Order: sequence, then structure tokens, then C-alpha cells
Amino acid sequence: MAAERAAVKGYLDELKRGTLPRPRCPVEGCARRPQRRGFRDREDVRDSSGDPLGPVPVPRYRCTEHGGVPWHPGCLLPYVRTVAVAVEEAVEGYAGGKSAAQATAGSAFDERCVRRWVSRLAAPGVEAWVEIGLDALRPDPAALGERPARARPGLWRTLDALRRLAAALRERNIAVGSPLSLLWSRPAPLTA
Ligand SMILES: [Zn+2]
Repeated sequence: MAAERAAVKGYLDELKRGTLPRPRCPVEGCARRPQRRGFRDREDVRDSSGDPLGPVPVPRYRCTEHGGVPWHPGCLLPYVRTVAVAVEEAVEGYAGGKSAAQATAGSAFDERCVRRWVSRLAAPGVEAWVEIGLDALRPDPAALGERPARARPGLWRTLDALRRLAAALRERNIAVGSPLSLLWSRPAPLTA
């Protein structure tokens, strides 16, 4: 739980210092810098024990030409109240061969949550979409995470590719937050 609280605190510290990475306008070819326009609050943010960590203020951004630019803190996933680091741990556990029950052990969210999160990773076309992004960005071949012996091979491979894609985007100064958040933004422009 300490890591989960630290992730939110790290975000709030960056917000206070004004060092949050700014989003780019998602419109292909637009070079305008989106401007910050106020805040909204994410009210319901929980750690894996179900304890509240919010409300978490989230800046809104606008491109002067193209309007609202979607953005969310790296410590959170869109439409998910559990902090991203806890969701990642559960998804990694499941992809690594744990049952949904084992992957939720000790947490307040239930097996249905884990299945719902995993279903985004397992959705048809996701692996191909991630591979296209990797092909476009051509990151240095990174060492693959060590695959547990009982891993679900397809899910593990997709999760691993998703992490490499997030790292490649980060290398290009495109803030993506949690690699899993890419699953909510699909299909977003991946070239930059
Ligand atoms: Zn724009």
C-alpha cells in the first residue's frame, strides 16, 4: 500500500511544483502547446485495500485550435478508481499464471475487477496494435521481463510488449503514465 500512496503523492508533488509533463494535441501534425484550463477532481480514488486516496485534482488542457485534450495522471487509469500501480500488479499476477482469486488476494477489489482489467489486455487486435506501435517507434530491443513458468503466454507477451511501447513513448518525452493506460486510449496516434 505504501507504493500506492507514494504514487499519488508523487503526482500531487509534481502538480504542486508545476513539473507535470504536458500532453500534446492528439491531432496529427498539430504543434500547438495545449494550455492548462482549470481542474476537475477525481473524487473516488482508492488503494488496493479500498481506502480512499482522493479527491485527486486533475488539470484540464485545451488546444487553442482543436479544443479539449484528454489527459489523466500517471498514477491513475481512466474510469478506474483503484490506483494504477495496484491494477498493474493484479494484471501482472494474472498474466503470470495466478488465478483471478489469487491475483486479488489481500485487496478490496474482486475477481470481476481483475477479469475486466485483463479483458482490455486480451481484447482482439490489442497485441497487433501494440506491435504496430513498436514497429513505428523502433525502440532498442529491451530485455524481456522474465516470464514465470506458469504464465499465460499470450497475455504475458502482450503485457510485455505494452511495457516496451510505454518505455519507447517515454523516451520520446511522451508521458503515458501506466502502460495499461494505453489500453484505454487505443487507437491513439503513436507516432510523434
Ligand atoms: Zn491542436
